[in-house]
Amino acid sequence: MTTTASAPSETRTYQQFIDGQWADAASGATFERTSPYDGHVVATYPNGGMEDAQRAIEAARRVFDEGKWSNSPARERSKILRDAADLIMANRDELSRSISEEVGKPLNIAKGEVAMTAEVLQYFAGKALDLKGEAITQEVADAVGLIVHEPVGVVGIITPWNFPLLLISWKIGPAIAAGCTMVAKPSHYTPGCALILARLLSEAGLPDGVFNVVTSETDNGALVGQHLASSEQVDKIAFTGSTTSGKAVMRAAANNVKKLSLELGGKSPNIVFADAAVDAAVAGAFFGIYLNSGQVCQAGSRLLVSNSIKDEFVEKLMNMGKGLKLGNPLEPTTTMGPLINENQLKKVEGYITAGKQEATLLMGGNRPNGELSNGLFVEPTIFDGVSNDATIAREEIFGPVLSVLSFDDLDDVIRTANDTMYGLAAAVWTKDINVAFKVARGLRAGTVWVNAYHGTGLAQMPYGGYKQSGIGRELGGSGLEEYMETKSIQIKLR
Ligand code: NAD
Repeated sequence: MTTTASAPSETRTYQQFIDGQWADAASGATFERTSPYDGHVVATYPNGGMEDAQRAIEAARRVFDEGKWSNSPARERSKILRDAADLIMANRDELSRSISEEVGKPLNIAKGEVAMTAEVLQYFAGKALDLKGEAITQEVADAVGLIVHEPVGVVGIITPWNFPLLLISWKIGPAIAAGCTMVAKPSHYTPGCALILARLLSEAGLPDGVFNVVTSETDNGALVGQHLASSEQVDKIAFTGSTTSGKAVMRAAANNVKKLSLELGGKSPNIVFADAAVDAAVAGAFFGIYLNSGQVCQAGSRLLVSNSIKDEFVEKLMNMGKGLKLGNPLEPTTTMGPLINENQLKKVEGYITAGKQEATLLMGGNRPNGELSNGLFVEPTIFDGVSNDATIAREEIFGPVLSVLSFDDLDDVIRTANDTMYGLAAAVWTKDINVAFKVARGLRAGTVWVNAYHGTGLAQMPYGGYKQSGIGRELGGSGLEEYMETKSIQIKLR
């Protein structure tokens, strides 16, 4: 029971969702998620282990192999997705509060995440109705070929904490459209919304055993993730998380040559030319780095600004930074919340210490004092004069820390932007279409925005990384293909 909108919710006790049943961990063990804002216990979860994971895998395997779900009429799977989207919107407050309290992100941003999740399911509801194969009829006169697409099978879903609901929807939307079954292992920092989602999917008519959720604390989390990745009963892993964990998943998945999609880390360049609409570019750079306290895989954490406008640009950025309101994520006026956990806080502080040796600290760099000192906050931080070889230009910080670099030449800036192990996202700001196109094509990144960062309203474009930012794509038609096998049926006419 909540007394005022910004007071913490009462601690909730959840169970896992396996084979259509709510279940404690086989061991009976539990763990708590505490608020990164004020340390209150948000929820208690079963600490599921191998036994729980195996039960979930077997349920998903059995239901897939029975064939009733995987061969169900596409319109039925489409309707489940549409109804689930409606239920998500009807339960938006519950979902948003769970996300806001567990991640520490401002409630309004969490509400946006919930709405985007509903849109993703609506999109894949439409895609489910448009599944079709091809007929090859003209190659030879006495044979016909059919190209058919079939669901890939049992999918293991492993997700991080920064957009805990949205990133699951990118996987369950196409998996349900295709007719797959699933075992999800959400991050132990944010399991709440995955379990609420399981309830809503069930209410929307998803058959028992199609979507299973196992919740596990840190070490068990990696163990359960590894078990999903190595299990011979799982056909595909859809993983979002750090590049290091992604490599561990990839190694385990080699066990049965599993299909894999990996959405990993980034160190994305945001390039501003001198002719750009400066105020829009400043706002874009600001949103690009500080959204979700910088804990965004696509964060524009390397800002490359033309030397001729760099000082003016950075000054405007700092002025905007002063307007950020750090505070209680449930308070409507808060625009920036705390970091996710103590480890992340220590990691970000470590990068700030390194940055002070490598570059010029222009803004932030500390933890705020006063009443915010109990929360896991770091001030919005800007380093200027950063070399692309500096640690703070090369490594993913995953916090509100911006590295500013400058450039004079178009070819040089493309080279610098590409000089990274990552290739998730990038942006270019200019009024010159020729420059925009040359840079967009020159950048080795899965998403390139022109005159925008993060938001263009084009929510269903394929999403994924070049280089060590990942394998495969989510969203769009490519996102659906990841959940389908292609079969050639060749018929000899006699
Ligand atoms: P993480 O890699 O620590 O954890 C992600 C998930 O993997 C969690 O569920 C965790 O329990 C599980 N896991 C951890 N180790 C594992 C192992 N050895 N085997 C199997 N599973 C394992 O990442 P995080 O800290 O939760 O999230 C932050 C990272 O995620 C950042 O690097 C960020 O860039 C990345 N991310 C990428 C995208 C994208 O779409 N590319 C989106 C969001 C976050």
